[in-house]
Amino acid sequence: MLDKILIANRGEIALRILRACRELGIKTVAVHSDADRDLKHVRLADESVCIGPASSMDSYLNVPAVISAAEVTDSVGIHPGYGFLSENADFAERVMESGFVFIGPRPETIRMMGDKVAAIKAMKKAGVPTVPGSDGPLGTDDETNIKLARGIGYPIIIKAAGGGGGRGMRVVHAEAALLNSISLTKAEAGAAFNNDVVYMEKFLGNPRHIEIQVLSDEHGNAIHLAERDCSMQRRHQKVIEEAPAPGITPEMREKIGERCAQACRDIGYRGAGTFEFLYEDGEFYFIEMNTRVQVEHPVTEMITGVDIVKEQLRIAAGEPLSYKQSDIKINGHAMECRLNAEDPDNFMPSPGTITSYHAPGGPGVRVDTHIYNGYRVPPFYDSMIGKLICHGETRDVAIARMLGALSEVVIEGIKTNIPLQQRLFRDSGFQAGGTNIHYLEKKLEQEQ
Ligand code: ADP
Repeated sequence: MLDKILIANRGEIALRILRACRELGIKTVAVHSDADRDLKHVRLADESVCIGPASSMDSYLNVPAVISAAEVTDSVGIHPGYGFLSENADFAERVMESGFVFIGPRPETIRMMGDKVAAIKAMKKAGVPTVPGSDGPLGTDDETNIKLARGIGYPIIIKAAGGGGGRGMRVVHAEAALLNSISLTKAEAGAAFNNDVVYMEKFLGNPRHIEIQVLSDEHGNAIHLAERDCSMQRRHQKVIEEAPAPGITPEMREKIGERCAQACRDIGYRGAGTFEFLYEDGEFYFIEMNTRVQVEHPVTEMITGVDIVKEQLRIAAGEPLSYKQSDIKINGHAMECRLNAEDPDNFMPSPGTITSYHAPGGPGVRVDTHIYNGYRVPPFYDSMIGKLICHGETRDVAIARMLGALSEVVIEGIKTNIPLQQRLFRDSGFQAGGTNIHYLEKKLEQEQ
């Protein structure tokens, strides 16, 4: 096993990684910005290194600072968590060139998945279902593009190959707007991502967001850990996640899950990963792959009993997967709700000192958070301060436990989205299950 790991992240995921390392007897190094000296995992880590000022650009995204911290502490590997440098292929390459183990896929894989055109092409080749579309970059010939769109059928969506975070996309409802939309998206993509390659896809009207968790080792073994439903989104940000997805039968799960596992074997994928799909009328359509641990990984852990972060560490150490596909059984249902330091009415961030904190508890309740009494939420980073995860033998039990946990948790001194989450878990449409990706925004509009 790896002897010492540097955790190149902050907040709840840094603490989550630290806990996995402790269980495996791995020593930990925390790196932090000036503003993050009081983070819980910094206090718990075996060693800690300040890598720069508060701004992420100068600290958590500062590649030379992270690498030097690994050097001075004699770390063996680097775990990037999610966000920050986790999907930066150049960083992964630098880590490996400097002689450290990167806890994630090979840089080439990260690079390929970061280019959506290349990712879709590879997935299609591996037999993963994709959205009907241009099957490659759009050229400059207007007639060809018009014919392509007619063939796909309106509405269509123009997307940037280098896009991310829901940016660099434009929906086109009729031919009259097509050529203009292509050139606008191209120009925007060039400016925003330094890559003006765009492609075309059928625009799905009311899809759900369903994703498959995979684990793949360096010995040719790959398994899937079933699916998560993350359709409850606002501005492409997930708000609630659950596993399994309502309405997905064991046969559907087996089929799409095995396709994803096979794609991992085909491309020699290494580590944990997530295949994101839009799901409509019983069909899955691949949109992208995330090559890192995800915020919502705990719901999968709760229903499968697999510790995804420990598996990441084992795979990075060159060990074979601890599980075969037949070992993976789904037990009950899990819900995750993201707790954000923000105003529940207008979503404005609400940093500040937490004057009082009490965690919820009871059967099936898991709390992944770095906050504590007196912790000061800095204004410089993402507003997520933790996650409540509730497991139950059925979806209804998981929801009831979440409502109980939300009523128990006390966070004073800052505003949080707990009132919003309580409304959502009480919402009859959400309780019925299977809502689409527009449901939450529509509900918020109606409440205005
Ligand atoms: P990003 O990397 O920016 O998140 P994605 O390709 O994952 O880009 O798409 C982000 C979101 O945009 C999806 O979750 C979905 O809401 C919407 N979207 C993307 N492609 C389509 C499509 N073909 N039809 C309908 N909605 C889409």
